[in-house]
Amino acid sequence: MRSRIEELAIRADVFRWLDERFNENGGYELSRELLESYSFDGEPIKLLDPGGRGIRNPASFSSTLTIMTSAGSRNPYADTESIDGWVTYHYRVGDGGDNTKLARAVANRDPIVYFKGVRAGFYVPFYPIIIADNDPVERVVRFPLEQGLAFLGDPLKYTDDQRRYAETIVRTRLHQPIFRAQVLHAYAASCTVCDLKHSELLDAAHIAPDADAAGVAHVSNGLAMCKIHHAAYDRSLMGITPDFEVRIDQQLLDEVDGPMLRHGLQDMHGRHIRLPSSRAARPDRDRLASRYELFARR
Ligand SMILES: [Zn+2]
Repeated sequence: MRSRIEELAIRADVFRWLDERFNENGGYELSRELLESYSFDGEPIKLLDPGGRGIRNPASFSSTLTIMTSAGSRNPYADTESIDGWVTYHYRVGDGGDNTKLARAVANRDPIVYFKGVRAGFYVPFYPIIIADNDPVERVVRFPLEQGLAFLGDPLKYTDDQRRYAETIVRTRLHQPIFRAQVLHAYAASCTVCDLKHSELLDAAHIAPDADAAGVAHVSNGLAMCKIHHAAYDRSLMGITPDFEVRIDQQLLDEVDGPMLRHGLQDMHGRHIRLPSSRAARPDRDRLASRYELFARR
């Protein structure tokens, strides 16, 4: 068994490694293959259970390193996650082994990673997670997706301000990365307007504003866009008709300026956006129409 210091050093290194993979490289989802390729000081340590179980307890670790839920039902977090940002994770069947290490992670307040499946074999990571509650009677552990939520106490007793804060956290920490993963995947990680294929320069834009705190916006309310086209769409300097045609604001069309204006914006006028190959992922025409009205009225 490793020393506690070494275990904590590895956990910290895992978080650093995930930061690099997920943020700096413009990642939006991580494959199982990638997560099984992690190594510390040359020693391979798989971050997911090779047997496909939802908990990763490396033999040399005294407590749990990661837990995972697969993508499954239509609602991507119906089974385990509540709208207040807390995740309930069930013990494994039986006693000892995995559950002992899970209980030890709670007792020691060891930081773990929670991998949320966004589609088969692909995950969005949440870390560092400190498990807040262990309920041996219900055989579940519970944790908030953002540490700040742990300080608010019982979600059933939130004040209005606390509830608003929790909803904001849930939208930004939970819904946004999942929406981004689903939209970028649907558009094969390229801007629907200009085809730019660098995921670190791409956003998942909402067609209708993301007002629903209770759920992840459906991919049909999204468009993968590069940063400049996302900003132009949000400011109604660019519109997209319900027939998928790009329109640029007349004032911008009349301006004379350098290559970004000419090629990046003016040349997009009249182009058709590139649609996802999956019909279910295509942008919703009614939403496009309402959004286009805002642009046309400008
Ligand atoms: Zn673009």
